[in-house]
Amino acid sequence: MKAALLVGPQKMEIRDLPVPVPREGEVLVRVREAGICGTDFAKYRGDLGGNFPVVAGHEAVGEIAALGPGGVGTRIGERVAIQPNFACGQCETCRSGRENICPNRVRLGLDVDGVFAEYVAAPRKYVWTLPEGLSDSAAALTEPLSVALHGFQKCAPAAGDRVLVYGTGTIGLFYVQLAVLSGARVTAFNTSEPRLEVARKLGAIQTFHSAAELETRKGDFTIVYETSGAADALARIIRWSAPGARILLTGLPEKDSSIPAALIARKELLIQGAMTYQDEFPAALDLLQKGAIRSDLFITNIYPLDQLPRALANFRSPHRIKDLVRIS
Ligand SMILES: [Zn+2]
Ligand SMILES: [Zn+2]
Repeated sequence: MKAALLVGPQKMEIRDLPVPVPREGEVLVRVREAGICGTDFAKYRGDLGGNFPVVAGHEAVGEIAALGPGGVGTRIGERVAIQPNFACGQCETCRSGRENICPNRVRLGLDVDGVFAEYVAAPRKYVWTLPEGLSDSAAALTEPLSVALHGFQKCAPAAGDRVLVYGTGTIGLFYVQLAVLSGARVTAFNTSEPRLEVARKLGAIQTFHSAAELETRKGDFTIVYETSGAADALARIIRWSAPGARILLTGLPEKDSSIPAALIARKELLIQGAMTYQDEFPAALDLLQKGAIRSDLFITNIYPLDQLPRALANFRSPHRIKDLVRIS
């Protein structure tokens, strides 16, 4: 099969690799489209260290091509989205129902070969059947939308909440959309004007591209979604939040930084982390199928697999939101 193999940092080669053989409880998925994500870019640059060679990619839509031994519950040709973090199912964390933070989880495209290939094997319990009428490209947004839904449900706004979305990459823009749908008044912050333009199209009532401008709204926000991963984001957010505000962290800063901890106590702020997803895939598929999520505004480019290195070179473009690879 054709696959984009990362042989080392910034060295990607289109290779012919053996088709994976699904084991017991697994299915073989023929990948149709796959999203390119910040994690793939970080792996490509070598920032995540570790294992090479590896096939990157974890946001995939495809169709069932084969079943492992004893395979039941699905049929060949069924269109599916893959949930790409496989928990052990046995540790204390998994048994408490929080498989998303299982310390033993296996991540597709990082720990094992991922979806920038014609075929990938995945556990049956981690593939979700697509609803009728949902396009491959829209369905390729299921994984990042599930990330946003997971955090959103931990920190959901009510009508009248004044929401700040800090960072408007794909996940940040999903937060904008979800918060607007819930009736909140949404402000978005990002240094990239093209993405703020999309935030306004999704219903953000105010957008800022400079922190100095945002200082004028200091103390106003009752809910903040931090999606940028910028090292100084949390300190700013703590200062900008209203008394009693809730802060949801999904960005992953590369380095630690100091925060005004006394303000957390003084303002009784609640800070909550969120990591990937638990059981949000069906809800994400439902939102996409209903058209509640403007997938047309999120998908910026679709590349053939052998153009993936070019797509990664374009990753920093302010005009890119979610680029896809069309594989078969
Ligand atoms: Zn991703
Ligand atoms: Zn576990």
